[in-house]
Amino acid sequence: MSGADTAVATRAPVLILLGPPGAGKGTQARMLENEFGMVQLSTGDLLRAAVAEGTEAGRQAKAVMDSGHLVSDEIVIAILRDRLGQGDLGTGIILDGFPRTAAQAAALDRLLAERGQEVGAVISLEVDDAAMVDRISGRYTCAACGEGYHDSFKPPRTEGTCDACGGTGMKRRADDRADKVATRLAAYHAETAPLIDHYRRQGKLKGLPAMGRIEEIAASLRAMVAPLRTGR
Ligand code: AMP
Repeated sequence: MSGADTAVATRAPVLILLGPPGAGKGTQARMLENEFGMVQLSTGDLLRAAVAEGTEAGRQAKAVMDSGHLVSDEIVIAILRDRLGQGDLGTGIILDGFPRTAAQAAALDRLLAERGQEVGAVISLEVDDAAMVDRISGRYTCAACGEGYHDSFKPPRTEGTCDACGGTGMKRRADDRADKVATRLAAYHAETAPLIDHYRRQGKLKGLPAMGRIEEIAASLRAMVAPLRTGR
């Protein structure tokens, strides 16, 4: 192994969570943050923050996001590059919702190479499309801390009050409406699902059946991620 290779292998791991909208990427990424001190980077969250701040990128992205289509590679890659440049990346990175296209996957390799890093592993959350509409249209988050809930699968202990921070403001995403979900699933199958084979060919793909209970999936994921962190 060359010196550069050693540097890559010992750097904080970069993990990609792949899966259609509603697969549980955000929920599981938050679990990994809490468990391992890794940092979740969600391009959806970064874009929503840009929309809220009214930046130029946010203005351009808003209508596309509301329609359920994918925002341009150019905007999304720029937003991720900026975030990586801000540092504060914990003990490793969990990419949630990025890359979503072949061009984004290539850009990610370049961005990481500039930092002496590479994609460590790609975990594909395997779910049934038919169930995703129910999962997505029932979900909401705490406006204060971002903890995720679901009308049927994960209600808070006290209705309307966040288990994690006690906040009482809950919000639902405009693009989580059932009529937008079909567009988002179609975008996933057309643009993102091919990345499964891309990473399989690189020997980086691990499949994780993700139709069970959140805690069971979290336990399996934890067992997959723990060895990556120690480089074993
Ligand atoms: P998410 O929160 O990951 O479900 O993303 C919400 C929306 O943001 C998506 O439906 C897209 O419009 C946009 N978006 C998020 N990440 C990306 C990405 N990597 N590429 C293109 N569009 C994205």
